[in-house]
Amino acid sequence: MVIGCGVIGLTTAIRLREAGLDANIIAAALPPDTTSSVAAAIWYPYKAYPEDRVLAWGKHTFEEFVSLSALPESGVRMREGVEVYRRPVPDPWWKDAVPDVRRCTKEELPPGCRDGHTFTVPIIEMPVYLGYLMWRFAAAGGSVEHRAISSLEEVGSRMVVNCAGLGAREIASDERMVPIRGQVVRVRNPGIPRFILDEDNPEGLTYVVPRSQDCVLGGTADEGDWNLEPDPETSASILRRCAELESKLEGAEVLEHRIGLRPGRPEVRLELEELPGGLPCVHNYGHGGSGVTLSWGCAGEAVDLVREALGRPV
Ligand SMILES: Cc1cc2nc3c(=O)[nH]c(=O)nc-3n(C[C@H](O)[C@H](O)[C@H](O)COP(=O)(O)OP(=O)(O)OC[C@H]3O[C@@H](n4cnc5c(N)ncnc54)[C@H](O)[C@@H]3O)c2cc1C
Repeated sequence: MVIGCGVIGLTTAIRLREAGLDANIIAAALPPDTTSSVAAAIWYPYKAYPEDRVLAWGKHTFEEFVSLSALPESGVRMREGVEVYRRPVPDPWWKDAVPDVRRCTKEELPPGCRDGHTFTVPIIEMPVYLGYLMWRFAAAGGSVEHRAISSLEEVGSRMVVNCAGLGAREIASDERMVPIRGQVVRVRNPGIPRFILDEDNPEGLTYVVPRSQDCVLGGTADEGDWNLEPDPETSASILRRCAELESKLEGAEVLEHRIGLRPGRPEVRLELEELPGGLPCVHNYGHGGSGVTLSWGCAGEAVDLVREALGRPV
């Protein structure tokens, strides 16, 4: 049984079914009410650790998304864009996972920026993509039970896979799990083709992620903040900062304000554990700001751990 119906639970459950295992899902919240539904979402390793494992999972996931981008119904599309800085920077540490990273020319940099990289990565339109994953899971014979559990032991099955994101703080008694609150503004896309990431903006994390009809504008990353109410001043500041990076956004029609609590942890937890009653459990949670970016890589490793626990060849 898989706990969780965010991007991690769905991807893991699909991989388990595709490996011939009888996986079903229990979840307290379903799309569009999960953190995964709020994600921008761009392939980009952010606030997830340790770097060596993140790079391997990210590489695997990148390749999977390249394949999915051939299916319009998946909501995955390859797009070119930039990450920009106000100071000279070295090559990105994740460069090995992305084929076409190069330094920006002066013309590619927004006003006030001195350095940056341009590259092509998958943009994953989450409302479409999560619908696609739900469909793929159901087509593989999987079912989803909509309910909350209060402990992993209460799940009546011979194996549990914990993909509860921030919920692992309660059900796995993991106090290392902390929310990293993200606020975004969704606006109608005024014809912007490229993404822009501006992490060292002195006024706060700023990004523009264009999708088919809208753009996700961010953002914030407030550790330890559980507040689910959008703050109007923060929204105004996000809109202003994004319009400074991309002038086409001036006066863009606002569609929605959203909050998501990223499942923060000093390290992603992807391991096999025997629960006190003897039930084997594979944990797959704590992906911070990179759950989408790491989803297929982590799901593959989770399947290997499930096979190990069931005594089947990996
Ligand atoms: C503003 C914002 C922008 C982001 N942008 C990106 C991006 O561009 N790229 C990227 O890779 N990542 C991004 N992220 C991060 C990404 O959204 C998360 O890492 C990812 O969604 C985590 O997925 P998850 O499946 O672990 O968690 P969730 O989506 O939170 O799913 C957890 C599931 O577990 C269930 N659950 C929890 N507790 C219980 C319980 N007790 N009983 C039953 N079910 C339970 C929940 O109901 C839910 O179904 C962003 C996040 C935010 C907030």
